[in-house]
Amino acid sequence: MIRRRKTRAIRVGPVTVGGGAPVSVQSMTKTPTTDVEATAAQIDSLARAGCDIVRVAVPSPEAAGALAEIVRRSPLPIVADVHFDHRLALAAVEAGAAGLRINPGNIGSREKVAAVAAAARERGVPIRVGVNAGSLEKPLRRRVEGGELSLSEAMVESALRHIRLVEDLDFREIKVSLKASDVVTTVEAYRLLAKRCDCPFHVGVTEAGTIRAGTIRSAAGIGILLMDGLCDTIRVSLTGPPEEEVRVARRLLQAMGERRNEPILISCPTCGRTSIDVVGLAEQVEAILERIHEPICVAVMGCEVNGPGEAREADLGIAGSGGGAPRGGRTRRRDARGPCGGRGVIFRKGEIVRRCAEREILKVFREELDSLLAQRGKTQD
Ligand code: SF4
Repeated sequence: MIRRRKTRAIRVGPVTVGGGAPVSVQSMTKTPTTDVEATAAQIDSLARAGCDIVRVAVPSPEAAGALAEIVRRSPLPIVADVHFDHRLALAAVEAGAAGLRINPGNIGSREKVAAVAAAARERGVPIRVGVNAGSLEKPLRRRVEGGELSLSEAMVESALRHIRLVEDLDFREIKVSLKASDVVTTVEAYRLLAKRCDCPFHVGVTEAGTIRAGTIRSAAGIGILLMDGLCDTIRVSLTGPPEEEVRVARRLLQAMGERRNEPILISCPTCGRTSIDVVGLAEQVEAILERIHEPICVAVMGCEVNGPGEAREADLGIAGSGGGAPRGGRTRRRDARGPCGGRGVIFRKGEIVRRCAEREILKVFREELDSLLAQRGKTQD
């Protein structure tokens, strides 16, 4: 059982972050913000993938001008990501952003930060204080280079300075991110800051890399911090489609027991007993399950000999079949297996309930899934 750190709660539109609320999933649009159509379409797609909060870059007055229409069309609360120019932050609040991501250190003078905090307070808009290892203030950077502080300690000092700056303006609707592309530094920084403030944390490993590398680095970094109970909202950062960030984030939450309303797919690694196209079937079943928000366990296993037994916990499963009942562990001939030329079984809780040709197995699986969901008062879409 993961024990979450106690934090203050803030609200990003309808989504509560911190205070024990479910860990929310964020992503960021990758379209030019000035392209309202493309950005709105991407936000719709992110919502369908299960995103809770979406961040949109506001790098220019033109982007700020496009934001109101994007907000109006968005099914998700939008966080405006602003650097350097406090007027853009003010324009984003005016446009209806549900949150701001700024670095108070680069927004300018105290008066400018105060103007942003006042506007945010008036509209009930929280601010994310974002500290990035790559853009630390020069004095802190020098202390790191001089060996006085570790990078993670310097990130924490920077965050605390920014938090104080905003809190001194009587603004407490703050969440914090401490991002480094290095997993160990990221984890250390969040662990250190957790002892020194009660702001909710936005957790991610920044510039994590391509889909494969980034998934691994994010799973390591966010996974550890989920286990520590330090994540309040997460963003998996990938060089790839933002929807993939959301899928990875949701699976990560589910793997750590933080999302209980999601299906679990288990599949065997395949071996010499495999008699169906496990890889292809697992991918297709995974795509089917993406549209279902119900805590069911589904298995795709290569053989009838071990599959139903090994995946006994699965509510519903597919396994390759030798063409009949298991016969003392004998398997079907290897030359008879193929992407669609084999036979398969459908099982529930380890018990075989149907047999069919491999080419029909997805159709039969869907029928059984429908039946299972109907028993729970749910549907596939
Ligand atoms: Fe091999 Fe069957 Fe186990 Fe898959 S379920 S790894 S095919 S023995």
